[in-house]
Amino acid sequence: MSGNFLALAQPGVQQLSPYVPGKPVDELARELNLDPSRIVKLASNENPLGPSPKVLAAIREELAELTRYPDGNGFALKSLLAEKCQVELNQVTLGNGSNDILELVGRAYLAPGLNAVFSEHAFAVYPIVTQAVGADARVIPAKDWGHDLPAMLAAIDAQTRVVFIANPNNPTGTWFDAQALDDFLQDVPEHVLVVLDEAYIEYAEGSDLPDGLDFLAAYPNLLVSRTFSKAYGLASLRVGYGLSTAVVADVLNRVRQPFNVNSLALAAACAAVKDEEYLEEGRRLNEAGMLQLQEGFRELGLGWIPSKGNFICVDLGQVAAPVFQGLLREGVIVRPVANYGMPNHLRITIGLPAENSRFLEALAKVLARG
Ligand SMILES: *Cc1c(COP(=O)(O)O)cnc(C)c1O
Repeated sequence: MSGNFLALAQPGVQQLSPYVPGKPVDELARELNLDPSRIVKLASNENPLGPSPKVLAAIREELAELTRYPDGNGFALKSLLAEKCQVELNQVTLGNGSNDILELVGRAYLAPGLNAVFSEHAFAVYPIVTQAVGADARVIPAKDWGHDLPAMLAAIDAQTRVVFIANPNNPTGTWFDAQALDDFLQDVPEHVLVVLDEAYIEYAEGSDLPDGLDFLAAYPNLLVSRTFSKAYGLASLRVGYGLSTAVVADVLNRVRQPFNVNSLALAAACAAVKDEEYLEEGRRLNEAGMLQLQEGFRELGLGWIPSKGNFICVDLGQVAAPVFQGLLREGVIVRPVANYGMPNHLRITIGLPAENSRFLEALAKVLARG
């Protein structure tokens, strides 16, 4: 006799599908017998610059300590972040990627009978961390592909503990301004923790994208999450952080794994925080690439959703899956977003100029074949 261990999983978990990551280069190379160095991957919002030499040097130096546990309190990195973000050390929570921060929030604040509110087309990790602990996911229809903040507000009830909002949102790239955020925060009931996911904030410097940190002092129910995976170029190392009141940080710290961020990641992130040049270069590259892709889409007669991230969703005006497959055969990996309720779109990460060109040429070719 053996139990049905799918049916035995708690109901929220049974209803989940595993997170679908971008297709790895080596996998496509194996499948199509292609040279991996000829494959262009614009599928996971990774930084096309490659790692900063300063980061690589910091990691090399840390290698000698590999037999030791990392600093479980991440003192050096927390100190740098506290200074940079103008908060106290005890307001910073470090995570194994910012996904870890989202998960800590779920574990600490959600449970069966409680719910989390988030938008349609929102980041796929929100339902995972919500349903993993048996809480209900309240998915609110999007407006013009973006978060409908008033509707999300209206969906909050006595059992709501968390609202997840991403600004800009992934995969849509949509965003809201400071006034909309402030109006929202003012009306959110005090018992609800607002998780403002700012995974792409570094790309938006100098734009009308609000800085969540400006709202921390006024709203004790706000948690801002950020990451080293995107603009800082450390996706593989898994480092993210949360900024909140000391009380919320203390709660998250209670459920955190003791050594959730490894020592190479800590050393790399410390070097990355100080590397303004790398960020600046990444921003320039992103702006230029965004224009390059939009110009290419215009020439192909395609629409797109305006984006403040390092990615853009192109509207193919038809089911996108065959075009995605056609692009794979051309050695170009992008991201289908049908599982986000967007069957006619593909999400393209902004790459190096030559990678963007390769993608646009491949897209033109695949579309011409019809
Ligand atoms: C990429 C991304 C993250 C970051 O994930 P990490 O775990 O830090 O790599 C978080 N939120 C959104 C919306 C993202 O797109």
